[in-house]
Amino acid sequence: QATILWLRRDLRLSDHPAFMAAIARGGPVVPVFIHDDLVEGLGAAPKWRLGLSLADLAARLEAVGSRLILRRGDALAVLRSLVEELGAGAVMWSRLYDPQSIERDTRVKAALKDDGVEVESHAGHLLFEPWTVETGAGGFYKVYTPFWRAVRGREVAAPLAAPAEIAAPAAWPMSETLDDWQLGRAMNRGAEVCRPYQRVGEEAAQGRLGWFMGEAVGGYNAARDLPAEDGTSGLSENLALGEISPRRCWHAGMRAMEEGKPGAETWLQELVWREFAYHLIYHTPHITSESWREEWRDFPWSEVEDDRVLAWKQGRTGVPFVDAAMREMYVTGKMHNRARMIVASYLTKHLMTHWRIGQAWFEECLTDWDPASNALGWQWSAGSGPDATPYFRIFNAETQAKKFDPEGVYLRRWIAERQRGPTSTALSFFEAVPRSWGLSPHMPYPEEPIVGLKEGRRLALDAYEGWKT
Ligand code: FAD
Repeated sequence: QATILWLRRDLRLSDHPAFMAAIARGGPVVPVFIHDDLVEGLGAAPKWRLGLSLADLAARLEAVGSRLILRRGDALAVLRSLVEELGAGAVMWSRLYDPQSIERDTRVKAALKDDGVEVESHAGHLLFEPWTVETGAGGFYKVYTPFWRAVRGREVAAPLAAPAEIAAPAAWPMSETLDDWQLGRAMNRGAEVCRPYQRVGEEAAQGRLGWFMGEAVGGYNAARDLPAEDGTSGLSENLALGEISPRRCWHAGMRAMEEGKPGAETWLQELVWREFAYHLIYHTPHITSESWREEWRDFPWSEVEDDRVLAWKQGRTGVPFVDAAMREMYVTGKMHNRARMIVASYLTKHLMTHWRIGQAWFEECLTDWDPASNALGWQWSAGSGPDATPYFRIFNAETQAKKFDPEGVYLRRWIAERQRGPTSTALSFFEAVPRSWGLSPHMPYPEEPIVGLKEGRRLALDAYEGWKT
């Protein structure tokens, strides 16, 4: 009897427990990806990036005699119809932990079981299932450092090899095509500008992990703060879609640590920030939509998308570090972590704008968009989240630029205006933006920031004082 493997954010062959369980049932395995409402609701960049990943996975499956079946519709309806077409006995998947996926998966699981179909969900997206990490008092963790202490010594099983053989059904069910789906349609900016910055698929991700552990992890402690350097793993896009497993990353990091490479432990800690984000999204799903700490829900943030917010989105605030970072994201689909903290601080403090607006823009533009890390990152930066930076610690983008980009390389890489011979990356921003934005490199760069750094700091602190009392 056939087994259906429902793929979602686990777009790889190796170290895939659900895949191995499906194969272990003995019959043919039919991998399927469903374009349901959750996929429909993705932002433009992550949806486009998903399409690249699916194309890569489909090719990999075909190389081992299998296929990726694509179907559009309600997940339960699609699975039911596939079960019937194939006479399948079981459906397997890797667990997800965001509230929307949990709601859907619980519904699908119950209904299929009622139909008499065997259903199994497996681990694979995380190192530590969120319910297996508990405080001494039996609750979940709200602070990162004790969470890290609780997990760092844990045994993590070695990654599984990719299946050598995947039995095919006698006849493959009908599949739609990626062309039918047009997942890149909403990229109304030059997707071709963004494409070279994507490292797509399992093989590329593993190659990058190998490079990082061989060449870069030793310098990670210093380089990870420098936005102009290629000093971090860049694996977030792969982890977000499950093109690489966190377990493989963990073991590589552990090996590097045993070899005495200085940045390895810090890197493992970053990987565990991702786990912590998932721990929180599982235990407190409101982290995606409401200020995590209740008292912050009436903080006087503006939720109006005015011209200043537009300037922030378009990289035209007049604060060079902020603008460079916003343009980097628009062109590459990614943004350096330090830059993410700075643009988030500028939006939520200097512009006194709700973090949700920033969260939504990142969701639209990031090819490494991840529901848990994005929500935590925004709430951490805004000061409303668990274990957040205190609100009154406000980043000064200029001081940050001096410290972390002393030669101005990052700024020149992304801001064409004011340069006599602008870099090609800086110019590419203007190719990437939609025409409706009306931007050109010949426009003058704003003389003054829309909100000055000192002025914004004062406004933010005044608002905080007024709100607290
Ligand atoms: P490395 O430094 O090589 O770290 C290795 C891995 O650890 C990363 O790939 C990532 O999976 C994880 N990681 C590192 N830092 C963090 C962190 N602060 N929080 C959670 N996980 C982390 N990350 C996303 O993957 N998707 C997002 O949508 C996202 N949105 C963010 C929004 C804001 C406002 C902030 C401040 C941070 C956000 N991050 C997000 C976290 C972080 O910026 C990225 O994970 C990191 O820049 C990815 O680069 P890298 O893969 O080279 O990381």
